Amino acid sequence: MSTTVRVGILGATGAVGQRFIQLLDDHPTFELAALTASDESAGTPYREAAKWRVNTPIPEDVASTTVGRTHPDDVPEDVDLLFSSLPSSVAAEVEPLFLEEGYVVSSNSSNDRMADDVPLTIPEINPGHLDLIEVQRDERGWDGALLKNPNCSTITMTPTLAALDEFGLESVTVATLQAVSGAGYSGVTSMEIIDNAVPHIGGEERKMESESRKLLGSFDGAEIELHGMDVAASCNRIPTLDGHLENVFADLADDPSVDEVAEAMRDYPGIDLPSAPEQLIHVFDDPSRPQPRLDRDREDGMAISAGGIQQTSQGVKYNCLAHNTVRGAAGASLLNGELLVQEGWV
Ligand code: NAP
Repeated sequence: MSTTVRVGILGATGAVGQRFIQLLDDHPTFELAALTASDESAGTPYREAAKWRVNTPIPEDVASTTVGRTHPDDVPEDVDLLFSSLPSSVAAEVEPLFLEEGYVVSSNSSNDRMADDVPLTIPEINPGHLDLIEVQRDERGWDGALLKNPNCSTITMTPTLAALDEFGLESVTVATLQAVSGAGYSGVTSMEIIDNAVPHIGGEERKMESESRKLLGSFDGAEIELHGMDVAASCNRIPTLDGHLENVFADLADDPSVDEVAEAMRDYPGIDLPSAPEQLIHVFDDPSRPQPRLDRDREDGMAISAGGIQQTSQGVKYNCLAHNTVRGAAGASLLNGELLVQEGWV
């Protein structure tokens, strides 16, 4: 992956957009060439348009770049790949405009994640699903390509489930403890979340239940058959800033020991892409780990952490954690972009 690929960010000023900018700084292949946001931000320098809250400074060239409108007319034609971090309702309207113009879009937004002709991909888990783009182009008649990454809570648990699939995944019950950055800038007010926990995140439970089955589903070249496991999720917002922690109970056909479960997770293979972690799943023996503050930045925020593995009457129980705006959002899209380049779609 040595040639330079010019990329743009749709929704560049938001919580996920800022992570894209951080992750793209000094990227070996991608060169940032376009930033877009809402009409209110368009026409202003990025440093004024964005309420920057990432823990590294805004790169100087980005700070002075003028933000464009989120429309193909405001994005140079020689941009090869767009990363999208728009609210889903906005993305549903504007992503097709870019796809019709032939852009390849790697998107975080939830619209179309479960569409039959749209690949939903974690590069280490189901890279072969990318070939669904052929079906998409035939059906939609566009030259562009739309690739989605899953919701942040789904991406936290799915690699661990992929590792356990060899033991026969039958059903999964999961409860989440999700950070406030998962709701975006205007998502949760301090009055709602300080000294509190909110046992409801609109639509999140259904996303975890459906997206995980698509990610672990099989692809025959024409369509994806969802994995047969039954998934039930309970999603909760807690006052951490970044990092989703999840308690998973996985009912398996086989009866692996705790050591066999840990080994399957540790040995789950990674992928050779510039932003991929060396080890996808880190497993702790210490039952008090992983914890959001201590473990979310592992391998630059791209690794999944797991621990607390034990056998229970409801199957194997464990905890897992990922950085929601990195591995769960911008980093996930970035890795999908790298896969698109590696596989020749860009
Ligand atoms: P956010 O902080 O609210 O940022 C939204 C971005 O979209 C901003 O750049 C905003 O620009 C822009 N925007 C809003 N309305 C627009 C419009 N009408 N036209 C053009 N641009 C518009 O949201 P976020 O947390 O970054 O999430 C972005 C997407 O990623 C969402 O679909 C979300 O569900 C998904 N996602 C988020 C996470 C997470 O952990 N946060 C994880 C996975 C997926 P202005 O600044 O100009 O308003």
